Amino acid sequence: MKEYISAKDIRYQLANLKQLTFEVTDACNLSCKYCAYGEFYNDYDLRENKNISLPAAIKMINYLVELWNSEYNMSATRTVFISFYGGEPLLNMPFIKSIVQYVENIEVKSRNFVFSMTTNAILLQKNIDYLVKHNFNLLISLDGNELNNSYRVYKTGKPAYTDIKNNIDTLLQKYPEYFKTKVNFNSVLHNRNSVEQIYKYFKADYNKIPSIGELNNMGIRENKIELFRQTYRNTYQSLYQAENYEVIERDMFLKSATYQSITAFIHQYSGFVYRNYTDLIFGNDQKKSIPTGTCVPFSRRLFMTVNGKILPCERIGQQFELGMISESEICIDLDAIANKYNSYYAKFDQQCHKCYKTKACIQCIFNIPKLEEDHPICPGFVNETEFLVYKSKQMNFLRNHPEEYYRIMENVIVE
Ligand code: SF4
Ligand code: SF4
Repeated sequence: MKEYISAKDIRYQLANLKQLTFEVTDACNLSCKYCAYGEFYNDYDLRENKNISLPAAIKMINYLVELWNSEYNMSATRTVFISFYGGEPLLNMPFIKSIVQYVENIEVKSRNFVFSMTTNAILLQKNIDYLVKHNFNLLISLDGNELNNSYRVYKTGKPAYTDIKNNIDTLLQKYPEYFKTKVNFNSVLHNRNSVEQIYKYFKADYNKIPSIGELNNMGIRENKIELFRQTYRNTYQSLYQAENYEVIERDMFLKSATYQSITAFIHQYSGFVYRNYTDLIFGNDQKKSIPTGTCVPFSRRLFMTVNGKILPCERIGQQFELGMISESEICIDLDAIANKYNSYYAKFDQQCHKCYKTKACIQCIFNIPKLEEDHPICPGFVNETEFLVYKSKQMNFLRNHPEEYYRIMENVIVE
């Protein structure tokens, strides 16, 4: 089998990890209709109101500390984000406080730690002082105004909007500077809101630009497909229904689908963007040798679930675990992970070779249907005609908005 990545590549990523995310609990105090762990989907572990094991999480941190102190570490001053995710993480504050205390006392000279959390804000008021004291980056889930947010409900069916809004407003009044710099919002787009409504709501009430995400269309239960279709909305289509969509997307910049697309186009196809000095001196034509747009495992983050599963992120099905951590043992076999990825990559080598999107591909292997079969088909495959349409769309945008080319080149850092 061809070796696209090796155990050594993976060890290097762990030794230079940017983000460690804990699924603090699988319990939640809301029951949002479209939740990724809710009625639409079937690709996650059973929700059992379970909390993550503190000793297992500390084992995970110690495993990484050893690598951060090894010769594989390439940085003298790297920031590592320690993130808390759920369920609803604020339901398990004892775990969060223990990890914060543990991490704040770790001796790794080459690492700074920053804490972050995704929360539904229901329990925000009583934890505000702690979160501010430890300088958490907060990402609050809210879909817009009362009607826009009406899929976010308690288990009784009671809408959660008023409580969320009160808690956010209290945070804003009590800690305005913290709110300005450390709080962001995440909205899910569906059939009860639109990009325009979400944008206007956050601009008017909080002077913020939220991230807007579509419903995940992988792992949907057969009997929920029709309901999913009715609920799903596409960000481009929703944005273009707004009368002043150009003003909105210009202000949203990289949080809009248009600017994400044009930025990827400039970075991959203009020939004027280099990721580092090696690319600048020796050229970057050979860079894309791994099929698909899947990240090398742990190059973006490491996600540990309540059940101790190790995954490359929280956005893929939990059946794709790469290892396990329990209170008694760590089972992370880097050779086995490399083999697994190499066998997946091999399935797409031919398709990617013929695909015109290969340079700017963002297709994650784990979001391709029937991955375990012998010949899975990539839904993102782009032929020559489709590529020419894509290219002319991006060029037209730049022709009509030449100033945006400079804005992207000057403001966006290539990762
Ligand atoms: S979605 Fe796929 S490519 Fe993106 S971070 Fe997760 S594993 Fe990596
Ligand atoms: S979009 Fe194209 S390059 Fe990307 S994974 Fe699919 S076939 Fe490969």
